[in-house]
Amino acid sequence: MEVIPISPRGYCYGVVDAMTLVRRIAADPDIPRPIHVLGMLVHNRQVTEAFAAIGVICLDEPGATRVELLEKVESGTVVFTAHGISPEVRLKALQRGLHIEDATCPDVARTHQLIEHHVEEGGFVVYVGISGHPEPEGACGVAPGAVHLVSCLDDVDRLPAFDAPLLVTNQTTMSQWDIKPIIAAIRDRFPTAMVQTEICLATQVRQEAVADQAGSADLLVVVGDARSNNSQRLAAVGTEIAGVPVMQVASVADIDTSRLPISGRIAVTSGASTPTAVTREVISYLKRYDGRQHPPETSIAVGNRVLPSLPRKRGGGQTT
Ligand code: SF4
Repeated sequence: MEVIPISPRGYCYGVVDAMTLVRRIAADPDIPRPIHVLGMLVHNRQVTEAFAAIGVICLDEPGATRVELLEKVESGTVVFTAHGISPEVRLKALQRGLHIEDATCPDVARTHQLIEHHVEEGGFVVYVGISGHPEPEGACGVAPGAVHLVSCLDDVDRLPAFDAPLLVTNQTTMSQWDIKPIIAAIRDRFPTAMVQTEICLATQVRQEAVADQAGSADLLVVVGDARSNNSQRLAAVGTEIAGVPVMQVASVADIDTSRLPISGRIAVTSGASTPTAVTREVISYLKRYDGRQHPPETSIAVGNRVLPSLPRKRGGGQTT
């Protein structure tokens, strides 16, 4: 089997920085215990289990907001994830006397500042993002009532009339191809709206790599958790832009061998929060696949193997 590892792929700088911060505080005896992460630091079970092994509890409950998760933290330290947090959650954590560690990605923080500044000037914001995802929750929470979340074209029709300048921006992990028709529809309704797209560099280069490099493959395998928005977007770029069938797997154990070509080319990419070791195992299995063997249960041991120790260059990816 010929495997095409798409480059760049995998961990982004925001996720690496967040994990490095958590590793550092977990090793620091002066940081108040217990240490809770508000949400999953990344959407990846192996990483969550690796952190549990060093005493860091990632709070996660499908559908729960950050405010609701915070209710479960009574003392010690709370870590805000790279997705960013609303001012309400920060204030509540301070009121409860919690020690705060903030791993908000600088790219997400910049979008928050953009929203804050525009609303302070008296304007409204339309934010294009995924409903229920933590990043839009934090961004819309920057100015409740002044920021309107739009997830699809129907949402554009439901927007109210605005009597002040309108700014349009978006979730950092969206794809340029997803937001284009939505932003066009917003411009149709609000011709004077200012548009500032905020897709982060890491997301953009990974999506463009899929669009450029996956087209000649018979199948694209996206290694990434089903709840990871950037992994879902990579899969969408594979299907809609590169025009290849896509299989998204969280680990090697998820590979559906009935969909693998016996011979041919398989392109592989991975989400910004997918551990390098998990992707490496998938690539290794696919290279050895001869049409007979079943995928193994993942052999990735939880622990330091899935936790990076050094930040990577901005915009770059893992090449393994
Ligand atoms: S995907 Fe982009 S915005 Fe999100 S953490 Fe990574 S670098 Fe930051």
